[in-house]
Amino acid sequence: MDINQLELQLNPVKDDPVALLRKTHDIFGKKLAVLSSFGAESVLLLAMVAEAKKNIRILFLNTGKHFEETLAYKEKLIEVLGLTNIVDVTPEKQDIDHYDPTGELWAFDADACCRIRKVEPLQRASLSYKALVTGRKRSQASTRATMQIIEQRQDGTFRINPLAFWTAEDIQKEITRRHLPPHPLVSHGYLSIGCEPCTRPVQEGEEARCGRWSGLSKTECGIHL
Ligand code: SF4
Repeated sequence: MDINQLELQLNPVKDDPVALLRKTHDIFGKKLAVLSSFGAESVLLLAMVAEAKKNIRILFLNTGKHFEETLAYKEKLIEVLGLTNIVDVTPEKQDIDHYDPTGELWAFDADACCRIRKVEPLQRASLSYKALVTGRKRSQASTRATMQIIEQRQDGTFRINPLAFWTAEDIQKEITRRHLPPHPLVSHGYLSIGCEPCTRPVQEGEEARCGRWSGLSKTECGIHL
């Protein structure tokens, strides 16, 4: 299937994230997975997944460097939303032993750390899927400003971004309307939450993703490039 054929099927439901998730699952079945960081705004997409179908596969990149609060939040959301198909994607032990034996690789080579803890584990896990759903939004950062809801990658696989055109205000309004529990670090100024060593709270007026890899030119971990 190419992107034109997929768009033909998905365009009628493109503006309704729950219907889009349901239809995408109908098309791809077990070849579909949702990627979630269980971060600051993840709860909305996860609630929509639960509404569409509770057993859609959800992948969590468990880098070994997450905040304790994120891991606890993940367990809470599984229970609250009734999600039944979460899989942790983890780095290879031999890579950690070889490249990051002290656990401090992030401090002197963040790209290498993301490669062994995120990019390569996801690449291995992705081999089982034809389409991945992400919660990325155009409004999150200038690097995402031209993102589409339906994308095809060079390897032929698809990325579905149901919230691509939602603003931060849209997201917060819907989270409030659905009475969804917030990530516990949001109230401490963390508006985009990744690994603990590479995430800081943001100041008023900053882009949410300014809190990621602060002080480095790095803006993406590489899994969406
Ligand atoms: S975000 Fe930081 S700690 Fe996490 S994998 Fe990337 S460099 Fe390592």
